[in-house]
Amino acid sequence: MNLILLGPPGAGKGTQAVRIAERKNLLHLSSGDILREERKAKTELGLQAQDYMDRGALVPDDLILAMMMSHIEKAGAYAGFLLDGFPRTVAQAEGLDDLLKSKKTPLEHVVKIDVPRDALLDRLTGRLYCPKCGRTYHTKFSPPKEPGVCDNSGEPLIRRADDTVEVVSERLEIYERQTAPVVDHYERQGLVRTVSGVGNINQISERIIEACRE
Ligand code: AMP
Repeated sequence: MNLILLGPPGAGKGTQAVRIAERKNLLHLSSGDILREERKAKTELGLQAQDYMDRGALVPDDLILAMMMSHIEKAGAYAGFLLDGFPRTVAQAEGLDDLLKSKKTPLEHVVKIDVPRDALLDRLTGRLYCPKCGRTYHTKFSPPKEPGVCDNSGEPLIRRADDTVEVVSERLEIYERQTAPVVDHYERQGLVRTVSGVGNINQISERIIEACRE
């Protein structure tokens, strides 16, 4: 099963992607996570991407396409792939279409997670994560047992540099302008199913799995 999760920043794509990929044995590819790894390792790509990321702007399409293509190649060892955070522009979606066509690999599902804008702002600006194990928390909705410390690894939790109110507003605006047209792109291919991203995490996972059965 090859699947894309679409939705604005804060919709819960990352949280759901980890769970669904595990259940269905899919290769989970989060473009944001891959970029953050590249930055941490100070690779050429990481250095090129960092300024865009800090501003909440999109990294140029050619860089993202080359990066994602090389990762998608590895999906052969899994039951398919799950893309999270990519494609984010119509040009990226077209590049992905070409790649999949050349590999005769069908894209089967595009699931859009819907969350009202006010809730997105609340979710993103309270978000914390563990730099060691990647577990995510929220100061209000899912706080760690001890404030500021990861339940799992005991490491101090950190906030993503792009989760400030200013950068979050910019990211939401960019989503509307550049990523919402990606939904239309896949609507034209008849692939989009929309699920509500409001509710508890298990319920939302079930909605996504159900949407992939249709
Ligand atoms: P995310 O973790 O998905 O919110 O991504 C964090 C940041 O990485 C974004 O604000 C962009 O700067 C960059 N980024 C991630 N995915 C893409 C993409 N598909 N195209 C362009 N930039 C991206």
